[in-house]
Amino acid sequence: MTTEGQAPLAPPARKRLFIRTWGCQMNVYDSARMADVLAPLGYAPAEAPEGADMVILNTCHIREKASEKLFSELGRLRELKKEKASSGEKLVLAVAGCVAQAEGAEITARAPWVDIVLGPQTYHKLPEMVARASRAAGAVIETDFPVEDKFDHLPEVAAPQGVTAFLTVQEGCDKFCSFCVVPYTRGAEYSRPAAAVLAEARRLVAAGAREIALLGQNVNAYHGEGPDGRAWGLGRLLREMADIPGLLRLRYTTSHPRDMDDDLIAAHAELPMLMPFLHLPVQSGSDRVLQAMNRGHGVAEFRRVVEKLRAARPDLALSSDFIVGHPGETAADFAATMALVREVEFPLAYSFKYSPRPGTPAAGAPHQVPEAEKDARLQALQALLREQQAGFNRSRVGMTMQVLISGPGRHPGQAAGRSPWLQPVHLPGDAAALLGREVPVTILAAHPNSLSGLLAASEGGHNAQPREEPAPA
Ligand code: SF4
Repeated sequence: MTTEGQAPLAPPARKRLFIRTWGCQMNVYDSARMADVLAPLGYAPAEAPEGADMVILNTCHIREKASEKLFSELGRLRELKKEKASSGEKLVLAVAGCVAQAEGAEITARAPWVDIVLGPQTYHKLPEMVARASRAAGAVIETDFPVEDKFDHLPEVAAPQGVTAFLTVQEGCDKFCSFCVVPYTRGAEYSRPAAAVLAEARRLVAAGAREIALLGQNVNAYHGEGPDGRAWGLGRLLREMADIPGLLRLRYTTSHPRDMDDDLIAAHAELPMLMPFLHLPVQSGSDRVLQAMNRGHGVAEFRRVVEKLRAARPDLALSSDFIVGHPGETAADFAATMALVREVEFPLAYSFKYSPRPGTPAAGAPHQVPEAEKDARLQALQALLREQQAGFNRSRVGMTMQVLISGPGRHPGQAAGRSPWLQPVHLPGDAAALLGREVPVTILAAHPNSLSGLLAASEGGHNAQPREEPAPA
């Protein structure tokens, strides 16, 4: 309804943005920040590409067949773009992330209907690129590496992420593992200044976060400038984060065994809110293969790090990454990997068959392992890892543990959250009333990938530890 004599106010122009994200949590974080930088231009989230004015494909080069998946998605979007054009609508199409960084030229050659190609370090320039794309005839390409510029130019107010928030503190990698594209697509290691990280963490907590996971391709190589002008390691940063009022839990991922220094290990002993679950990729249990992978550590060094971590935090559980069938891996090397898995035990792990990534040293290495052999090794490893995960989940039954409630469960009247070991936990309860609280839950049943239980009679305090010692992980 309008007031007589006055022109109706036009609603602000709303545009819709759809982002498809492949890959790791860092890509999820990047997608959220791309949405943040486009929000002032009037872009609100769309549920599907069909309802969008702009589609961003945020790609991951680590995934198998990354470029095939991208080009088949681009083929579908070309049809959508045509449909929209025939009804007078415009669809801006952008490709972001590591595949854009590594294969920008190929993307514009094979898919000339793409409007924008941007590398991981340039998404703060998106508004400018959208404006340029609306004027340009061809694609706008930005794949530079000025990583510090990106963080300096991102908006300070980020969209709330919910009870668990992710915060990138470090990007890039200088390690050049033989099989990995990250050093080529994300550039050299860069750490954000501690003050910027702490300010972002406080904003996330003010927006409702109770758990923050610090992210980095090599997060424990963090060496950001502290307010005192000195380089802070990750241990120091975590201690400062632990003082943020309202924050209940801390995690960090992904770590490299080489960068697990004593100060960081000590932080695991000192900070109860640093959760007893750590992702520490080892990739192989054979020194020969680790050397061929250029990992910069051997099995003995990995063992020493694990021993120190478990001495600091006896309830610590580990997850890891494994690659089977790296060029030159023999049956004896693979047996050494199986032996290490049996010895250390990993309640969660990600395992993959080696597959060559163009431009990486291992891609052209001799002694590639036959596909059938890789399949057999992967199956054997995954069977062992599944057994360990099930055993770990079963060992939680009967335990009363703190669960951070993050929302409703799948069924009505059910709340869901995460255990200290990152397991999803379901329990009967009022999710809205419990949201963002750590509550004691007695675990009644273990499922392959989750736990279920009941709210314990009395609720424990802030950051309470499990009331029973868990079985060794
Ligand atoms: S440490 Fe190795 S696997 Fe990890 S990001 Fe760097 S090069 Fe890739």
